[in-house]
Amino acid sequence: MLFDSHAHIDDSRFDSDRLETIERARENGVTGIINIGADMASSARSIALAQSHKGIYAAVGIHPHDAKAAVDADYDQMAQWVGSEPKVVAIGEIGLDYYYDLSPRDVQQDVFIRHIDLARQLGKPIIIHDRDAHGDVMNIIKKEAKGIIGVFHCYSGSLEMAKEVLKLGFYVSFAGPVTFAKSTKLK
Ligand SMILES: [Zn+2]
Repeated sequence: MLFDSHAHIDDSRFDSDRLETIERARENGVTGIINIGADMASSARSIALAQSHKGIYAAVGIHPHDAKAAVDADYDQMAQWVGSEPKVVAIGEIGLDYYYDLSPRDVQQDVFIRHIDLARQLGKPIIIHDRDAHGDVMNIIKKEAKGIIGVFHCYSGSLEMAKEVLKLGFYVSFAGPVTFAKSTKLK
């Protein structure tokens, strides 16, 4: 059984062949897919996809790129989604991105922590996006995420950090970066 824990098939790039893509995945043994929200609009689209397809689940959350746009009402909306739709299985993707820095870092941190609090209240795991922010992500997880688990999506940290991550009960996901010619350490 294959379960794709991180897809963005709500993206407009799939507008012309979304159903075919889902069908193709199924034909090739992918029995489950979690479609991941990155802002409120894509979170809503993820839920709509989950509601209309067997085997598709949703995660809701605001990506650090869009942290600057997060408002109080968004957290209420996410809590309401989780409470009313059992196919919403996680909070994410959330975290810190110091590579693009599309939102101020202090805002990224606040929004990350608020999502972690929300995940704890709702009893859901978190999906972490960490790009060039290993130190702050680890500090926040150690301080704020006691009692919850999740996945370090698209892992790009060191072996030492991976061991710490596993000790905290989190999963590590090896995605695209492991295929880069330059990422010899990650391999
Ligand atoms: Zn993603």
